[in-house]
Amino acid sequence: MSELDGLKALVTGGASGIGLATARLLAARGARVAVLDLDPSGATEPLLGFKADVSDDASVRSGVAAALEALGGLDILVNNAGIGAAGTVEDNDDDQWHRVLDVNVVGMVRVTRAALPALRASAHACVVNTCSIAATAGLPQRALYSASKGAVLSLTLAMAADHVREGIRVNCVNPGTADTPWVGRLLDAADDPEAERAALNARQPMGRLVSADEVAAAVAYLASPAAASVTGASLAVDGGMQGLRLRPV
Ligand code: NAD
Repeated sequence: MSELDGLKALVTGGASGIGLATARLLAARGARVAVLDLDPSGATEPLLGFKADVSDDASVRSGVAAALEALGGLDILVNNAGIGAAGTVEDNDDDQWHRVLDVNVVGMVRVTRAALPALRASAHACVVNTCSIAATAGLPQRALYSASKGAVLSLTLAMAADHVREGIRVNCVNPGTADTPWVGRLLDAADDPEAERAALNARQPMGRLVSADEVAAAVAYLASPAAASVTGASLAVDGGMQGLRLRPV
């Protein structure tokens, strides 16, 4: 018997990168998995794909309803959909701030709100939010993105506190730079993508990026019965980027 046999999972942003790797891994471990995405075409069998925009409440409510009807309930919610933004506070205007916070933070709130009644009916209810080391690392040129992920970290803790007595666990994963289509797009935009990738690898403590599958494995752990006593936790999957204090010797 597989670890997640009989459980039902919903993964937002599950048609690409970390979300897709997570959806596939949860399915490989026995869960029935639905994906909610702006473009669900990447979520192929056995994943059930549903189109929804997490920045639009009506779209979320109908997307979650359709997904939960197809799944027949919900045990595991993975709030993963997110977008990036580069720059200092002088570089992003109000519209950009509202847009990124709306997707990265309020998007998680909307989906969780729509999913909570189904989670309350589950004997194995949990939420895993995709945060980032940006929440606490003080990264340069990432003011808006870092603020959005700082809010995700606080939201995770607040949700964990609000729902612990209902038996709903809430945790987050904090990936470092992960090798996903998102990062691929950023590298492709550079003058010399290969040189940029080499420089990015060289900046990592392990000399390489984190893989989407490695982040997915952490999400699958937090979503599993093995983590039954884990709530309000954030699990870094960052190759040591934040925990290690590497200094030249
Ligand atoms: P990705 O671009 O490969 O995948 C993101 C997915 O989210 C896409 O399928 C996209 O269609 C979907 N999406 C975007 N906006 C949406 C919306 N409004 N409604 C519904 N779906 C939407 O990105 P990724 O690298 O896999 O990132 C996934 C998550 O991981 C994000 O929350 C991101 O902040 C976080 N993260 C990524 C990295 C990294 O280095 N890649 C590091 C730390 C955290």
